[in-house]
Amino acid sequence: MKYFIETYGCQMNVHDTERMAGLLEQSGYDPAESDRDADIVIVNTCSVRERAEEKLYTRLGEIKEMSREIGRTPLVVVAGCVAQQEGDRLIKRSKGVVDLVVGTQQVKMLPMLVKETAASRSELFMIDGRPWRPEGRIAIENPYEDPSFPLGIVRRGDPVRAYVTIIEGCNDFCSFCVVPYTRGHERMRSKAEILAEVREAADSGRREVQLLGQIVNHYQAPDDPSCDFPALLEAVHEVPGIDRIRFASPHPRHTSDRVIAAVRDLPKVCKHLHLPVQSGSSRVLAMMRRRHTRGEYLDLVARIRAAIPNLQLSTDIIVGFPGETEADFDETLSLTDGVGYHSIYSFKYSERPNTLASKRMPDDVTDEEKTRRIVALQTLQRSVQSNLFQRSIGTTHQVLVDATSRRHEWELTGRTSGNTVVNFPGPPEWLGKMVDVTIERTGPNSVWGQAVGDPR
Ligand code: SF4
Repeated sequence: MKYFIETYGCQMNVHDTERMAGLLEQSGYDPAESDRDADIVIVNTCSVRERAEEKLYTRLGEIKEMSREIGRTPLVVVAGCVAQQEGDRLIKRSKGVVDLVVGTQQVKMLPMLVKETAASRSELFMIDGRPWRPEGRIAIENPYEDPSFPLGIVRRGDPVRAYVTIIEGCNDFCSFCVVPYTRGHERMRSKAEILAEVREAADSGRREVQLLGQIVNHYQAPDDPSCDFPALLEAVHEVPGIDRIRFASPHPRHTSDRVIAAVRDLPKVCKHLHLPVQSGSSRVLAMMRRRHTRGEYLDLVARIRAAIPNLQLSTDIIVGFPGETEADFDETLSLTDGVGYHSIYSFKYSERPNTLASKRMPDDVTDEEKTRRIVALQTLQRSVQSNLFQRSIGTTHQVLVDATSRRHEWELTGRTSGNTVVNFPGPPEWLGKMVDVTIERTGPNSVWGQAVGDPR
């Protein structure tokens, strides 16, 4: 039996896919080259934006068509945030395409659920994060509320970088965000388990580790009262074989002076922070329930810059949040210009199920106006980024090579400590090596250069 998993969304989903692949392989399944060769097709979904959710239904239509073409029907599983959010509605809406829905907290049960579903092909089988019994079927209640994950099972897809979850879920309930409803309440993984996984990643040749959590810097070890997030960074820093440490995403209000000092003082911790701001207007931030103001955010950025002048920042921004006026949006533009982000992820607001904003705040900015605002924001960001990239010409950076280019085998791509993507000529054997590269020219979203010295 062969499986094929396709993944939408954030790094958390990418890592869940690595976990699902490992669990299936341990149960005797093999990876398939494509969905056409697979006996089980898993779509690991994202529901953070409406468009991401719509993609699922388009994809299910394509799988139905493919089954007709190849003359057999694979077992179709939907996992991830849309699965958690939609539950049995997804089964009904897909009109017989979906066999199994696996919520975000049931990943560890996947092989057992697949087996159960395959054995009862005539019926749809569904399981929810909360105990739930579909009519006429026995749903297996989820015994895995805890965030631990057995060591040695993850099938890592990236040869250089290892994702390691440290926190699952979120308790913040920002008014626009679906994550607390799809990923559940915040659960911390034990320090012992995290360090064991980091050691295992290093032993398997990964040079970079990326610590994952919805609010990663809220970490407090359940097995060591003295270990908060900066202390965890120090502990991970001690693991031999790991040369780079990244984390995503910190929340501004938990970015304490101790967190800043840890990023400054620990050489392996990359000089990059993805610090979501969401809006430049304190009025909108209050409606978003972000618990920080524009002034507090800018003060934090000033403290970070004073402590670590070479650190690069990136962020997330939503335009067209309910009630966002032209003046509010101007504040987002001025903040973006003033901070000087190396990159931003910008989104048009869309209502997400269950959220406070969807229940209490009318989506009153027209789609046309949202489009105008996002185009203006992205145009500004292109110019901010282009200026920053231009200033980097002639400078030399340590780049960890993480891929060969899709265009030419002799072209490599990697990232600086600050997270800038750098392209340069070099042999494929340099994959996973650290190379000094001098920047020569800039492009959209990445820069180009030449290697200097020997790779390490
Ligand atoms: S902090 Fe806010 S935006 Fe981030 S996951 Fe939690 S609720 Fe969502």
